[in-house]
Amino acid sequence: MVVWMRRFEAPNYHNHKGTVTSTSMCSLRCGIFLLQSDEGTSFRAENTKTMEPQTKRWKGSECDTDSWVAYPVLSDEQSQDVGLVEAYAAPIVNKKETSRLVRELNSLYPLNDLQHVKRVRAVKEKGSPHPLEVLVCLVSDAPAMKVVSIDSLLPSDGVKSDGLGEPFVVKVPARPPLTRPQFEQASKHWPTSFHEDKQVTVALRGELFSAPQKARMHVYMTSALTAARAANELGMEAVGAVMVDPAMERIVAVGHDCRGDHPLHHAVMVCVDLVARSQGGGCYTYDRYPACSFTSLTSDPVQKIPGAEASSQPYICTGYDLYVTREPCVMCAMALVHSRIGRVFYGSASADGAFGTKYKIHSQKDLNHRFEVYKGVLGKQCEDLNSLDGHVKKGK
Ligand SMILES: [Zn+2]
Repeated sequence: MVVWMRRFEAPNYHNHKGTVTSTSMCSLRCGIFLLQSDEGTSFRAENTKTMEPQTKRWKGSECDTDSWVAYPVLSDEQSQDVGLVEAYAAPIVNKKETSRLVRELNSLYPLNDLQHVKRVRAVKEKGSPHPLEVLVCLVSDAPAMKVVSIDSLLPSDGVKSDGLGEPFVVKVPARPPLTRPQFEQASKHWPTSFHEDKQVTVALRGELFSAPQKARMHVYMTSALTAARAANELGMEAVGAVMVDPAMERIVAVGHDCRGDHPLHHAVMVCVDLVARSQGGGCYTYDRYPACSFTSLTSDPVQKIPGAEASSQPYICTGYDLYVTREPCVMCAMALVHSRIGRVFYGSASADGAFGTKYKIHSQKDLNHRFEVYKGVLGKQCEDLNSLDGHVKKGK
């Protein structure tokens, strides 16, 4: 069996001849996922040993991965404005004094909390009588003055004001920019240093995942959608979730909302519990719900990780990806923190969502596990599930 895309992070698949041209999936109940390459090579992954054997393959429509974009859900620090703080700047009227002025100003007003701000900037306006301007100090650090003047700002024994013009107020970025949009916004006010995280930049453009990666993401979220519809048919909320082992490219567990049994059995809680069951733990049984299932890691001879012993199994969800149709609530988000989830992909936002809408649990600094979250995978189809929920509530 040719496994041509071992991991999302695999470096060479862009150039592999077997690029995805179509995605065929049987229904979730068949438990089979099939990706076809140009060469007709197929990759087959058993969804679960508890499901029915493959009886037929339903060849679905072309996998339209261009219809959605997965965007990262960044922390507040990454997504909010950098903020601005007022400072006094002054023109350097004698360029030869620049290095002395910077040295003396750094000593008198060190700007310790603004290491990202450059002390001197070039004046861009043509015809300016002076080519450079320098930050003197923050307005909040300036001495009390009746009239603002360069001599009032600089005590005679600190910085010689030779070569400096009269001060004026500017706004400078209060925090270092963490993303390119923040950097571009900050730079409009004053030149700023920026240590770019290229992955974040690409992710914000919606270009982090290649076409083959998106094809797999499409398959996984389609499974979650199928589970969500199964829940709806049983009169529960149309929410589905799929846990994936990205290293093995296989689905570990499929769950859906089971609140008919228990108010806390949200789809994500069900999915995490099923993963625990796959590792010999878990608390509940979902025998009444055939669309809820898991694959036992140790009892599957085909998919067993080479050399993996029970003791070396990951701690519940370590390294796993969760695909869930709706943004999880706080309870589910905390369950994902505790179970050490690798990444989360969700389709549509929720008013009480804990991964971007109401909270950003995945980026809380005071929690001991943080992870990446992406939203928008099959967003339209996931959003459409809400209308199914409306039918349930109306008793249809
Ligand atoms: Zn929940």
